[in-house]
Amino acid sequence: MKKYFKKDLSNKFPTKDITYDDKKNKLPLSTSKKKKRIVDLGNGVKFGSHDIPIIAGPNGVESHKLMLDVAKCLVKNKIKIIRGHAYKPLTFPYRSSKYKESKNQGMDIMDDIKKSFKLKVVTEITEIKYLDRVCKTADVLQIGSRNMQNLELLKECALTKKPLILKRHFGASLRDMLGAAEHILIEGNEKLILCERGVSIPHTHRDTSRFALDIQAIPALKEITNFPIISDPSHASFWAPWVPSLTFASIAAGCDGLIIEIHKNPKKSAVDPLQPLDFRQFKNLLKISRAVARSIKRKI
Ligand code: PEP
Ligand code: MN
Repeated sequence: MKKYFKKDLSNKFPTKDITYDDKKNKLPLSTSKKKKRIVDLGNGVKFGSHDIPIIAGPNGVESHKLMLDVAKCLVKNKIKIIRGHAYKPLTFPYRSSKYKESKNQGMDIMDDIKKSFKLKVVTEITEIKYLDRVCKTADVLQIGSRNMQNLELLKECALTKKPLILKRHFGASLRDMLGAAEHILIEGNEKLILCERGVSIPHTHRDTSRFALDIQAIPALKEITNFPIISDPSHASFWAPWVPSLTFASIAAGCDGLIIEIHKNPKKSAVDPLQPLDFRQFKNLLKISRAVARSIKRKI
């Protein structure tokens, strides 16, 4: 590995994404290999260790009933982290009548679920003005791919000292992603988890598909950074039938965690109804995922 970063070779690989100079001068904090990086949420939930925690839940906090059903499903399957967004950017400005950002009300629902089920909460932060409310409940703030380079947001999130998930923008290089990570690290927040969630390239016969999971990003990132790398096969494939195989592949590729979208009744999901797994599909996915993890001496 080391030989590729010899100083005198840095400009001799014109297609090389991250040069020796980048590592030294632009990405010193994110690419430092001095420390092992474990993001510990407490209660035995750790990213970057032997365990591979799974974050599961619907896209949005649609209702108390939905989150209750999801929480019960997670507890039954020994999953400790629930997700659901109360604030959410959409690709297009037109919202179906079913869809609404539940905002503070959604955060209150998450708060209630968290207390009743002792689950950790991951939720998206879209704007600085929502930080106070989101931080009251969230154990981890998710910075969505569309906000990967929203530098003011990155800074303010870092200053909360909360653990952060930084999602890679679907058009961003690993160099750009680590650059965004550097903006967080320089504020002194090292509780950082990096997430691969698919890139925008022509790749399939399906008109319903939007992104391709960049599996290679997992070993590539692990080579250059010690921060935990998680994978989101749901947002990458946008298509529930492909989520299991992409999940197994992510585990085999060395991911340190997963985001899986699930819903009691996927067809009724307020957004992206093709994407979530139902509870039975999720249970099946876990069974095989646990076996894949065991085969590489890790644990879900
Ligand atoms: C999400 O996790 O619900 C989401 C919108 O992800 P992304 O920012 O990767 O599209
Ligand atoms: Mn989503």
